[in-house]
Amino acid sequence: QTAEIGVIGMAVMGSNLARNMAHKGFRVAIYNRTSSRTDEVIAEHGSEGIFLPFHDLADFVASLERPRRIVMMVKAGRGTDAVIEKITPLLQPGDVLVDGGNAYFGDTRRREAAIRPTGIHYVGTGISGGEVGALEGPSIMPGGSKESYDAIGPVLEKISAQVDGEPCCAWMGTDGAGHFVKMVHNGIEYADMQFIGEAHALLRAASLTNAEAADVFESWNHGDLNSYLVEITSQVLRARDPRDPATDLLDVIRDEAGMKGTGTWTVQTALELGGDVSTISEAVFARSVSSAVLLRKVGQQALEGPEHTITVADRQAFIDDVRDALWSAKVVAYAQGLDEIRTAAAEYHWEIDMGQVASIWRNGCIIRARLLQRIKDEYAAGDLTTLLEAPSVRAELARCQQAWRRVVARAVEAGVPVPGFSSALGYYDQVRAPRLNAALTQGLRDLFGAHTYRRIDDEGSWHVNWSGDGREVRAD
Ligand code: NDP
Repeated sequence: QTAEIGVIGMAVMGSNLARNMAHKGFRVAIYNRTSSRTDEVIAEHGSEGIFLPFHDLADFVASLERPRRIVMMVKAGRGTDAVIEKITPLLQPGDVLVDGGNAYFGDTRRREAAIRPTGIHYVGTGISGGEVGALEGPSIMPGGSKESYDAIGPVLEKISAQVDGEPCCAWMGTDGAGHFVKMVHNGIEYADMQFIGEAHALLRAASLTNAEAADVFESWNHGDLNSYLVEITSQVLRARDPRDPATDLLDVIRDEAGMKGTGTWTVQTALELGGDVSTISEAVFARSVSSAVLLRKVGQQALEGPEHTITVADRQAFIDDVRDALWSAKVVAYAQGLDEIRTAAAEYHWEIDMGQVASIWRNGCIIRARLLQRIKDEYAAGDLTTLLEAPSVRAELARCQQAWRRVVARAVEAGVPVPGFSSALGYYDQVRAPRLNAALTQGLRDLFGAHTYRRIDDEGSWHVNWSGDGREVRAD
């Protein structure tokens, strides 16, 4: 019996993905470096579908129908390189090797370029949804040649999450495009979680208990803020400490956020591309500050400020304001993330369809949200320079922006840190400003470094002879 698809790496993600494929009717060959793990998967799940287990990589490869379709779900980095090195001599031109791990898109570009001369298709693929997603239907973001998508697309589309019969999987573009889109997905996830945290902190500052805040998030989840992260926020807020049911779990969790690096990649890459992802960088920095234990200890002792309490006359009005601020900030994070994708697409010659990106994020992934349907529809209606200009988005922002300002102002007055909300608002005001302080920046740069400036009423670059006769000279 031959296999239609093979999966390498039987840790949590790979085994769940293989089971998902088997559940959908595919004959799946499986292989893991440590063969006892392959046996365990078969012992636990072998009856769920047609699995062909192998202890030898060459036998695994030989079992696959041509062109072979192989998905690697191994530890990103050296694990991926090790598997590539072992498997490529066993493959033939036309075979498709998918990397479903969390690779850095630059590594994927490097690997794809190295493998391309062999005629093997290398498909860097972002997969989001964690272990449950892998089993039940993740959001899948494949990159690579168009030809490779013809071979692998039908399998990936079948195992992905769906929305009204549409798969949450689509070809993103060549080489690193899929992993790039996944990276930005994670960056937006960072921002989204930071905003949710700030909204919760504001509700707490206004004297809501965690349980009351949970009710608020639950009610928001029925409206425009409907999303997986908002949904699970109420679950976490309601959880009791398993060691002491009288205490909220949240109150015994250390306020030191961890991270694995994809948020940092999103920010580093944006800096290199010259884009603004300030909401994502604020979220990354907020996690760093939270874990800077000594800094915070010193700060708590040394720095004066208000008491972090917000007195509200009309509680519901305040809650509604926080909701509007949360929605607005979230839209800015999406706008910045999509902008980063658009800039990268131009730089790396990827044909990324922004509406399609929004479409495949609608289900299966961590940032799945009602807002994504709106984003998909807006991009389907016409290309956008920024998501913020989309008719229904700008109208909603127009409605929300006063509330957003009130929330940031109240937070600043009360000393409640809201770096995400305020940076999102700062971005909004920057892009709508008729004139920015950049003119003064250019004046200063010209004075101290002769870096020149451009005029509003003339072409070319100009420089003032600041230390001499004060005359303006053309500098290009
Ligand atoms: P891990 O990242 O923990 O990787 C373990 C797997 O990699 C095992 O199968 C292991 O084999 C294999 N492996 C490690 N090094 C090598 C090597 N040098 N040669 C061959 N095989 C090797 O597993 P996960 O299931 O958590 O994740 C798999 C991939 O999916 C990762 O890239 C991860 O970043 C990504 N991912 C994970 C998500 C999650 O929620 N966990 C979500 C989305 C993507 P062995 O048993 O022999 O050690």
